[in-house]
Amino acid sequence: MTDRLYYHDSFLYNFEARVLESVERQGRTAVVLDRTAFYPTSGGQVHDTGKLVLENEREVAVAEVGEDEEGRIYHFTSTPIAQAQSVRGHVDSARRRDHMQQHSGQHVLSAAFVRLFDAPTVSFHMGVESCTIDLAVKSLSSAQVAQAEQLANEIVTEDRAVNVRFVTLDEARQLDLRKLPPKQTGKLRLIDITDFDLTACGGTHVCSTGQIGAILLRKTENVKQGVRVEFVCGLRAVAVARQDYATLTEAAGLYSAHIRELPQQVQKSIQEAKAAGKAQQKLLEELAELHAGRLLAQAMNSPRIIRSVFSERDAIFIKLLAQKLTTSQPDVIALLASTAGQPALVFAQSPGMKSNMGQLMKQAMAKLGGRGGGTADMAQGGCPTGSADLSKIEEILRNTATGL
Ligand SMILES: [Zn+2]
Repeated sequence: MTDRLYYHDSFLYNFEARVLESVERQGRTAVVLDRTAFYPTSGGQVHDTGKLVLENEREVAVAEVGEDEEGRIYHFTSTPIAQAQSVRGHVDSARRRDHMQQHSGQHVLSAAFVRLFDAPTVSFHMGVESCTIDLAVKSLSSAQVAQAEQLANEIVTEDRAVNVRFVTLDEARQLDLRKLPPKQTGKLRLIDITDFDLTACGGTHVCSTGQIGAILLRKTENVKQGVRVEFVCGLRAVAVARQDYATLTEAAGLYSAHIRELPQQVQKSIQEAKAAGKAQQKLLEELAELHAGRLLAQAMNSPRIIRSVFSERDAIFIKLLAQKLTTSQPDVIALLASTAGQPALVFAQSPGMKSNMGQLMKQAMAKLGGRGGGTADMAQGGCPTGSADLSKIEEILRNTATGL
């Protein structure tokens, strides 16, 4: 079995080993070593990457590290390596340090949630950008989140020692462990954050809590098993805070405001946009009333058939106008078109009249290559931009009027 060097020293990045097996696994080449400092994906922590240097100094990249149910560790390599070769392993130390910060931060944070709110962690996920823990609680207030963040960061600043020790399952049962694995063979590996947290874990951790750096809690969301808390630690926390600050600064610049004033500024903008929308709607209503009055005055016959093309008004406006025209008088048929943007047609009649606007619209659209329809009293249609010019639309309206 492979000697897991990271069990005893998480800061060991360079080591020497021998290839026990050279295998193909899941269609990829992999090697099993007699000893390794490479951490395989397990317990929520992501695998290490790095390289193996062969006896002839050739370098082979280790892209992924995994383990099977029997605990055999596979180093997935870019090219095969012969059995019995001696190799020098180099773990990507920046990636490992980041993982140690996230993972050790998770221990501190999980313990903080237990201490403060009796909220145990039921799962942990380490992502490329952020990490999450799922807590077995119904809800979590933002004040509680801030409180847990505060306690976790106090533990960091106290720089408490993080010790690793091995005990039997019986010994572990006598201890007040935060979490005891359900199935365990052999000795248990305990991670002891002095006077704060004791738990069983096979991952890589920092030597003292100060090495975690800042612990920054992000969003929370309700999930099936409780509440999911997103967090980042160490250099990731600095990077995320920097990114957030840049985003806020950019947004505040648009308002010529301080970032702390952003919520009020955005609120104000939303209210202004709403008010402007209402004012515009009122003006459109007034404009439609004016047009309706003008068009009705010009139409003398009965029924009064009104044909009009608007080159600067959109489909919403001509629909509004059609409603004004046909609801104010009992004998009006409105055949309107808009050529602002995508050409659109609206046909409408006063309620109770005998024509069928939906059918007329379908016929008109068949000629224009567009699509539309509606009820007997009101129908609308649209054509693809550029498919119908003004003269064609006018001709359609004229023909439709003649057919009534
Ligand atoms: Zn751990």
